[in-house]
Amino acid sequence: KESSYDVVVIGAGGAGFSAAIEAKNAGANVVLLEKMPAVGGNSLISGAEMNVARNWVQPKLGITDDSPELHAEDTYKGGDKKGDMKVINVMTHQALDAALWCRDYLGVKFEDDNLFFFGGHSRKRALIPVGHTGTEFIAKFQAKADELGIPVITNMKAEELVKDKDGRVVGVKATMDGNTYTFNAKGGVVLATGGFGANPEMVKKYNPKIDERFKTTDAPGATGEALYMAERAGAELVNMSYIQTYPICDPISGVIELIADARFDGAIMLNQEGKRFVEELERRDVLSEAILKQTGAYCWVLWNDKIGAISNTVKAHPTEYEAFTKQGIMKTCDDLKCIADFTKIPFDQLKATTDRVTSMAGKGNDKDFNHRSGLVDMSQGKYYVIKAVPSTHHTMGGVRINEKAQALTKDGQVIPGLWAAGEVTGVTHGTNRLGGNAYTDIIVFGRIAGKAAAEAAK
Ligand code: ADP
Repeated sequence: KESSYDVVVIGAGGAGFSAAIEAKNAGANVVLLEKMPAVGGNSLISGAEMNVARNWVQPKLGITDDSPELHAEDTYKGGDKKGDMKVINVMTHQALDAALWCRDYLGVKFEDDNLFFFGGHSRKRALIPVGHTGTEFIAKFQAKADELGIPVITNMKAEELVKDKDGRVVGVKATMDGNTYTFNAKGGVVLATGGFGANPEMVKKYNPKIDERFKTTDAPGATGEALYMAERAGAELVNMSYIQTYPICDPISGVIELIADARFDGAIMLNQEGKRFVEELERRDVLSEAILKQTGAYCWVLWNDKIGAISNTVKAHPTEYEAFTKQGIMKTCDDLKCIADFTKIPFDQLKATTDRVTSMAGKGNDKDFNHRSGLVDMSQGKYYVIKAVPSTHHTMGGVRINEKAQALTKDGQVIPGLWAAGEVTGVTHGTNRLGGNAYTDIIVFGRIAGKAAAEAAK
């Protein structure tokens, strides 16, 4: 079975939808293929915060000295200078335009007066979608694709990129229910198939240190075969060993505990002995490693209403709150005695730690771990505590692209007809993706790739 389009986009996450919508609006006849029964990928289950320097919320919070240059520098440094600064600069300089496109064209609603401050950033710059998850984005993406009449074919798995005799990518072979379908692509193909964090063998192959101890936060479709497909078509895979773990996840399922994001506003991390052991706003890799070194390779995240009033995570994530409480890994208490009973942390040490935290409250006062945004007074309840472990989360490596989202070969040559965007690419984040940079990355490069593939069809 064969059909012909101007542009074929593979993968219906944030990058794929951005590409398909922009391709359509540039006049192309476009199709979006998704191997899973439902769209969304990791973009759906993500917290979906989006870093944008000079965004419209920053002035309301008194932040007036941010810039795309600073955002680029943070990203580059946060990835141990292994990212491609040319690509990073495109991301940070087009971030605001991408966010305005999401807000004003797609209708994505963001919190009006609140931003997220992720580890590794020198300014608070992450926009927060209402609901604090990717559901808001994916619902709006899907609605826009419907409105524009873009066919989104689920259960359709891309297996092979088709090249013509000159080496141009001109189509995709895909399968559904054992049948093969050929999608011809006059302008080209956009690869937006996400990462491989949900493929434990592939994770271990590229980074043997990340072994069976790790669960994953990722959507079940994040299994990465499409990276091999790109490689067979001549694309270079780079930085594949850089696999990010997320430090604060459910010990049972592996999913992120978004409710524990109270950490960004002062929640502390304790080991089973009741002691802090790391600065809570450290990078994810540092936190994960630190947790694995503690008794039982887990930690407890503890906060009180004073912190909760800022981050509001219990209200924002009622389903998690209920599930984690029922599951027996989370507890709400009026006093520390009850927290000690639940966690089996010795009460005296728990009390000593929280007293010390209270005595060092405020920016610049943490003599133990130098908490960068400042500890909070923890003398009063209610208290909330949750058990947490690290999971694999984001795979930084992937297809080498240039600043135009074109896939490159080992020799740095452009593969004509092939663009890639989002987690499937490998040069934006270096060794370590900073929180809030994935959404910026997928939307900026998804849009670039979609527009370019549409132009190429003309
Ligand atoms: P990004 O954040 O880069 O957009 P996501 O994980 O959100 O990445 O989306 C990638 C999507 O691509 C997922 O929905 C995944 O199921 C889909 N996908 C992965 N491999 C294939 C494939 N071979 N064919 C079709 N879809 C794929």
